[in-house]
Amino acid sequence: FLDGDLMILDYTETREMSEAYNQMLARMKTLDDSRQEFVSNVSHELKTPITSMKVLADSLLMQEDVPAELYREFMGDIAEEIERENKIINDLLSLVKMDKKAADVNIQSTNINELIELIMKRLRPIAQKRNIELTLDSYKPVIAEVDETKLTLALSNLMENAVKYNKDGGWVRISINTDHKYFYVKVEDNGIGIPKEDQEHIFERFYRVDKSHSREIGGTGLGLAIARSGILMHHGIIKVYSEEGEGTTFTVRVPLVYQE
Ligand code: ADP
Repeated sequence: FLDGDLMILDYTETREMSEAYNQMLARMKTLDDSRQEFVSNVSHELKTPITSMKVLADSLLMQEDVPAELYREFMGDIAEEIERENKIINDLLSLVKMDKKAADVNIQSTNINELIELIMKRLRPIAQKRNIELTLDSYKPVIAEVDETKLTLALSNLMENAVKYNKDGGWVRISINTDHKYFYVKVEDNGIGIPKEDQEHIFERFYRVDKSHSREIGGTGLGLAIARSGILMHHGIIKVYSEEGEGTTFTVRVPLVYQE
């Protein structure tokens, strides 16, 4: 009888162990799959501008007397592709920086209002060109323990998107608020909006709603992945609310005090 009991125990334990083992294997496989997918996406994204440059350069080389105008046009296209390649590499480097371990985190007491005003100052010329109004509502001054570089990168991406995916003459409203525990940043625009079915995917690396339109606008599909990593590394939360054709709001909540 006792033996039987033990056997049952043994069996249960073994089963639990093998379940845990299987779960671990499945998790490793998922990690491996997503890493493979990432590497394959990166390779594809990096290759696209190079393929275009090769086509452009080859067609110039194949012709004996290229008219100056055509030459300039093709060279202009090549320069655009180089710019694009550069953007992808810079965004990838930002993403890697966000993913690094705690040792690379540089937490300092930071004036959040000033940090946001600085991003706005950089963005203002781009907004003005398209007659987009850029405003800030700041209810209280906020001082928080953050990694300034990483938070700046995260918020810049949200604010840049609000301008990029806007209509000429539109508006972008940024607001900062705080309570005893958190600070809140809201980035609201009345731009093109994001279709419902895309909203759950936009934080994925390389995800773009409308590939041709986003390409025209000059995105890499990494901006929101960078923003999300930057907020998550502060143990914060980021959410999106959007109505297609009406506009988009991103809300961010970050603890005032950084926790390891
Ligand atoms: P991208 O480099 O293409 O801008 P992001 O990761 O920053 O990539 O954004 C992913 C996609 O989400 C964009 O391609 C765009 O379609 C959509 N998107 C992001 N922000 C906004 C916004 N404020 N308004 C409308 N669409 C947006």
